[in-house]
Order: sequence, then C-alpha cells, then structure tokens
Amino acid sequence: MNYQGCIDKVLAQMADFQDTGKVATYIPELGHVDPNKFGVHLTTVDGQHFSTGDAQEEFSIQSVAKVLALTMAYDQIGESIWERVGVEPSGTSFNSLLVLERNEGIPRNPLVNAGAIVICDILMGHLSSPKEELLAFIQTLSSDETIYYCEKTALSEKRTGFRNAALANLMKSFGNIHHKVEAVLDLYFHLCSIKMTCKELAASFLFLANDGINPLTGNRITSLMHTKRINAIMQTCGFYDEAGEFSFKVGLPGKSGVGGGIAAVHPDRYAIAVWSPRLNPKGNSTKGMKFLELLTTLTQESIF
Ligand code: GLU
Repeated sequence: MNYQGCIDKVLAQMADFQDTGKVATYIPELGHVDPNKFGVHLTTVDGQHFSTGDAQEEFSIQSVAKVLALTMAYDQIGESIWERVGVEPSGTSFNSLLVLERNEGIPRNPLVNAGAIVICDILMGHLSSPKEELLAFIQTLSSDETIYYCEKTALSEKRTGFRNAALANLMKSFGNIHHKVEAVLDLYFHLCSIKMTCKELAASFLFLANDGINPLTGNRITSLMHTKRINAIMQTCGFYDEAGEFSFKVGLPGKSGVGGGIAAVHPDRYAIAVWSPRLNPKGNSTKGMKFLELLTTLTQESIF
C-alpha cells in the first residue's frame, strides 16, 4: 500500500476543510499551542514510515497516554484489574461525576479520567517508584529515552484539576482509591503531561497492531490476550462519548486526547498518530478525525 500517496491525497481533499474546533484552554498550559498545527505519522508493522506536516514536533498527548498506563497496570495485576474498573463506554463526558456515583466508585472504563486515576492508584500499589517506572515503560515503547513529563503542564493541570480531584475523592469515599488522593493525582497529572511527536506516538502504539510485540525492537510488550482487550476498549471507549462516531467513520481502535492528538491502530498493518489541536465539542480533534475518516475510506482498510 502506498500510504504516503494516500496521506498526500487526503490532505489535498482537505484543502478547503473549515476547522470550527477550539483549542482546549481549561488546562491553561494547553491554550498556548498554535491551533493550526497539523501532523501525521504512520508506521507499518514492517517498519516503514510515512508522514506529513508537523509530525516531528512534540505536543501534549494527554489522555492518549491512558492506554499506555492501562497496558502497564494490566500486566501488573492481570484480570483482577476489572474488579476496580469496568469495560463499558461511559456515554458521558470524560470527567463526569454522575455515572461514578451511580456505580459506587467503579469507573465505567480505564480511558475516562476516573478510570485512569484508578489505574494510577493500581500502579502505585505495585511499583516501587511509580513515576519513574511508568516513564521508563513509555520510553521503552517509543524507543526514545528523551520522552519526559512536562512539569509546566502537570502543574497547570494540578492548579485547575478540580473535577479530577472530585472524581478521586468520590472514588476514595467508596474505597476504590487506596493511596493518598494528592499522590495519585500527581501521578495522573504527570501521565497526562507527557509530550511526544506523532512519530514517537505511532511507535508507542505499534505493539497494539502487532499482537503485543513492538516490531521495531522485537520486544514483547504485553500478551496477545491483553492486546485484544486493550484494542477492544479503545474501540468502544477511546473517544469520550463519541466512540461510536469514530468507529462508524474511521473503523479503527484508537484513543484521543485534549491536546488534539489521536493514536489509532490497524491490527497487522500499522499504527498512526495525528495531531491537530482544535477540538470539537466532544473533545476530539476535528481535523484529526476527518483526516482518519478520509484515509480509511481511501485505503479501504479498516477492521470492519
Ligand atoms: N489531563 C486531562 C484531564 O484530566 C486529560 C483529558 C483528556 O485528554 O481527555 O482533564
């Protein structure tokens, strides 16, 4: 498949695309980004690279990182993870408190904020230096030791993360947070603050397109069964309450973040990362979603 030709063709189709999206500003640090940035990087499981635009510029991957934390925690505690977090789409916004109250402190899935906060709590219970080990794991996935937590972003979110604090406290009241709320939130805010380029992000997700093995390094990251389940969760829960729309239009498992990034995988073929900071009202990158919709339409490749 000539992916570069397809990427270029889709961009040409989008020449007149009117982006009505808005950059997220509820975390003030995110508001400083140039809204017109746009990058794409696609890496195939046999190691070919295709890209366009600002693919080599780092950006805040935000919630996309939740998939990587989930991978690590799932390997730490296996199936018992599902006693603390569910696997159903939430049907509400990423930081909603409503469903959490109804479900007695068990988040709907690991990709909403409450779910990722529980995942951070699990990591804290099983790692001796959770922050360092989580970062080292993500550096291994991307094969890049320079990946870092952006302290500015983490602090910006800590100062304004009132809803996340509310979620964590609510779960603590139900006994589903075992460590100090401040410490769990600190890990969560750092997880969300990670910066990567589209190229690094595609590399980090490639194991999910290759049965759990990073084909660039040969390292087994997780089992085949975990890969299947993580992809299933991305497919049903990866795009806030717009996961159905993404499935319908793009047809790939993936995860978005409020920094405007989207990582998606086509099992046995490729991982792709797209970055465009303007978001639709549901919190997904407008241009990123459109690009992926047109790409899977043009290539006639999706998981369905
Ligand atoms: N750090 C963000 C928050 O907790 C993540 C949101 C997102 O990307 O979905 O609000």
